[in-house]
Amino acid sequence: MGEKSEYVCPVCKSPLSSMPDELFCRQCKVEYPAKSGIPDFILEDLSRSKHPVLSSVSGLDKLAKIYETRLWYPIVYHVYGGLFIPSVEEEVKMVTDMVNAADGLGLDVACGTGLFTRSIARKMRRVYGIDISMGMLQKATEYAEKEKIGNIRYARAMAEKLPFPDRLFDGVICCGALHLFPETVDALGEMARVMKKGARLAVMTFVRRRFFRFKRIREHLRKDHGAHVFDVDEMDSYLSQTGFKDFTYKIYGSMILFHAEKS
Ligand SMILES: [Zn+2]
Repeated sequence: MGEKSEYVCPVCKSPLSSMPDELFCRQCKVEYPAKSGIPDFILEDLSRSKHPVLSSVSGLDKLAKIYETRLWYPIVYHVYGGLFIPSVEEEVKMVTDMVNAADGLGLDVACGTGLFTRSIARKMRRVYGIDISMGMLQKATEYAEKEKIGNIRYARAMAEKLPFPDRLFDGVICCGALHLFPETVDALGEMARVMKKGARLAVMTFVRRRFFRFKRIREHLRKDHGAHVFDVDEMDSYLSQTGFKDFTYKIYGSMILFHAEKS
């Protein structure tokens, strides 16, 4: 893969040896292949997962083609968020400002096609984007090339098993995905692990407001879509459990935009 990277083994967290088209963990004796320059740290077949979000990964691959177009993302965003939420462009700007780590090293967890990744990359030295969908990551690579942004590295990895060493990042974002992770606390704990002390975490997710107040709707989202709609106090407690402080948020419709600092 040529250049030196910050990746470590997502399982044992030891440094990896770079081979042509793969990264190798000597501890675990495991090869992580790279497909068109994108390392793949997920060796299990997610389509067999019991979790609806993980098992829908091939659907996500197909969705990648239209994800950032007007056909999909803005519509879903407005349906779930409500009418009185900022536009997608405004939201990208708000999250980018929240990260507040100019020239640092950034991470976008569940980056999709890299809409937010590209925005923070314009302000940071280098940014990593991880997602479970190779289709999304390939599209993300195309978009970054088209916009001539050369400081982003994409990899296929799980939020609960990040392929990065402790205390690496100056800023981490996670937009439109925290409610989809099977274990919120594990995912937040893993993000905290890879962040420097004082680094910012910026998140966009959903809370129990507007029609998400209704238990029946939340039950449907949980059972059929694997989505968990948070309570604000619940989020506050998860953040303090996982080593964050200064939870600061704004709610728009049923959408919450927040930042917190690694203690
Ligand atoms: Zn290993």
